[in-house]
Amino acid sequence: MSFVETLEPVTMNEPPTETSPEPVAASSPAVAAEAPRPVEEEALIEIENLGFSYDLGKTETLRDISLKIPKGKVTSFIGPSGCGKSTLLRCLNRMNDLIETAKVTRGTIKIMGQDIHAPDVDAIELRKKVGMVFQKYNPFPKSIYENVAYGLRIQGIKTRSVLDEAVERSLHHAALWEEVKDRLNSSALGLSGGQQQRLCIARTIAVQPEVILMDEPCSALDPIATARIEELIAELREDFTIVIVTHNMQQATRVSARTAFFYLGELIEFGPTETVFGNPAKKQTEDYVSGRFG
Ligand code: ADP
Repeated sequence: MSFVETLEPVTMNEPPTETSPEPVAASSPAVAAEAPRPVEEEALIEIENLGFSYDLGKTETLRDISLKIPKGKVTSFIGPSGCGKSTLLRCLNRMNDLIETAKVTRGTIKIMGQDIHAPDVDAIELRKKVGMVFQKYNPFPKSIYENVAYGLRIQGIKTRSVLDEAVERSLHHAALWEEVKDRLNSSALGLSGGQQQRLCIARTIAVQPEVILMDEPCSALDPIATARIEELIAELREDFTIVIVTHNMQQATRVSARTAFFYLGELIEFGPTETVFGNPAKKQTEDYVSGRFG
């Protein structure tokens, strides 16, 4: 059974169900008297007690990570270089499977309730639902059009009108359409760095993933191109759950609703970004976000 087939269909931004409570006017005395109830967030990704090793279990690069990543929000992974942020990100779509000596030593990762390491889960199917954008933009040496159509062609879609529609929609979504609509058949390699990264984002969203993983997506870009990607992330969060690794703490505060701080392979603190930066619970977090180390 494929990853997709094992999942309950999930729609983005689901409308309220019939059992949802009716909104109540704020002036209602009954409500005004009640203490505010914490809002239960829907976790799209649930990581429980995860351990990960690059050397078949001799040493653990990630230790006992438990984290619930909410649906429809941007979550940042921060922490000093080498603490395991990218490793954890790559665990989420099993990219580390490509490394022979890599091994999940303990724990589970569930995405939309499905254990991604279950024997019947196909890693290729998983990666369609959990797409990835890398630090160094990596368009294929093909036309702009073919870069975006690539994932759909792999799925066997040949109908020109379907491909055209998907390419245009994805380029619009990635805020690139206006800049490239007159040269869709030109090489992607002729675009600027920032455009190439937005093209890679368009390629990722063309197959309509649920989650977009971004591994330092702006670290190879200048400040103007970085600002455009950050604006784009703000738009994409309407439709996707985004997890971003960043070494840039200002970027984490600008783009994300939730922040996870890692140190030496462990999750030290996770919560609303404004709390992690403004009122952290742990001293290590405070030392890091205030620039005392890292
Ligand atoms: P971060 O993203 O926080 O900078 P990484 O996840 O890249 O950290 O790396 C965490 C640790 O895992 C580091 O010690 C790094 O050297 C090691 N590591 C990363 N990739 C590999 C790999 N492919 N093989 C072996 N060790 C790796």
